[in-house]
Amino acid sequence: MGISVPKLNSVTLHYFENCVGCAACAPSCPYYHVDKHYAPVEKAEFLREILRKKYTLAGKLFGPLTGAKLPKREEEFRKLIEFAYRCADCGHCYVTCPFGIDSGAMVNKLRQVLFGASYGPTLLRQLSALERDKGYIAAARAIWEDFLRDAHAPVGKKGARILLMVSLGDIILTRQAVLDAVSILKKVGEDFSLPEKPLGIFPPVGYTVGDAESLKTVVADIVSYIEGLSPQAVVMINGCYTYPYFRFEATNILKRKFSFKVLHISELLAEYLRQGRLRLKKRSVKAALQDSCQLARRGGVIEEPREVLETCAEVIDVKHSREDVECLGGGAGIGILARPARDALVKTLGVSVTPSDWERQFLEKLEKDYAKAANRRVEELRNAGADVVVALCPFALEALRGAGLAAEHFVSVVAKALV
Ligand code: SF4
Ligand code: SF4
Repeated sequence: MGISVPKLNSVTLHYFENCVGCAACAPSCPYYHVDKHYAPVEKAEFLREILRKKYTLAGKLFGPLTGAKLPKREEEFRKLIEFAYRCADCGHCYVTCPFGIDSGAMVNKLRQVLFGASYGPTLLRQLSALERDKGYIAAARAIWEDFLRDAHAPVGKKGARILLMVSLGDIILTRQAVLDAVSILKKVGEDFSLPEKPLGIFPPVGYTVGDAESLKTVVADIVSYIEGLSPQAVVMINGCYTYPYFRFEATNILKRKFSFKVLHISELLAEYLRQGRLRLKKRSVKAALQDSCQLARRGGVIEEPREVLETCAEVIDVKHSREDVECLGGGAGIGILARPARDALVKTLGVSVTPSDWERQFLEKLEKDYAKAANRRVEELRNAGADVVVALCPFALEALRGAGLAAEHFVSVVAKALV
């Protein structure tokens, strides 16, 4: 299988050419604290080697002497996979780089190169194909019907003002929070609807494994379904990559504007509060907010979760919050590859994954590294003295609970304070 490399547009050209190797980005990366070789600049360098070989004359003529190299042997691909899957695409290196270089975006492109050469974690590749072919819908029928029974809400209602976008992943990882969101929408008398079927697994899961074709098909299908119902806004509770994808990237991918707005539930709840539609009782509980990298840093949704949380709890200031939030390391598919999410997905979807010895070792090491990466932030939150850590990202919630912290989904905290 040949190597196909990304085209150098003005943005990738900047990321490719302007790194001075100062390593200012290194301490911002949760995986750098697991192994110094996982620094953002080192991970991005693997893509630079490939791009030099493809796009520079010196690279074409003198190869490795100029830092230009294409992976060829199995061991080289395995090394690249290890490094490519030590990035949660949290964007922290992007904001700490004095030159605005997004190493996470470079690593994502490296994953695209690997996927094009038929490399990448089997589970993510399978999930991406299942999501593209909608193969998950039949497998998810029972779990989805059970969820709808408990939700007691309008389903597939055309012209409802709000469509609550729910994926299979939302139901598997944060079912109670989705039900709590439904309760809040009912309480404020919102004209809303649920979809008739889960919208994706973790849409677009193809992004996590560099599967550009699946990503585009999935985004197009979901957008077409939403537009068929013509809501004014689609609202999601998922604080992971689904939000920035549908809010910012999807229009670029499909090259058109959509007929609906994309909101995170915290934005909608803040709007209700300002309109006096949502009444909450302040509980005597000290809450530390773990911002979501994708919402706060990539999406600019920073004040809304605070505005809402401050009406229900005493919010404690935590170091490394807002746009400076420290990631727990589970983004960009890492949380999907680690247990318990991996086991839950495999069981629900009936996916048969028989990893090779190498891939089993890869997953075991990934899981250990993820736990170490999370631990640094866990300790910071543990020492903050909160009764509960409030999270918006399903993988942050998993990591916090896995480390023994009392953690709750943002939506559930709000639902408990409803008057
Ligand atoms: S990406 Fe930015 S911060 Fe990191 S080494 Fe390069 S120039 Fe320095
Ligand atoms: S995006 Fe986050 S996880 Fe990825 S290299 Fe940058 S700091 Fe590390």
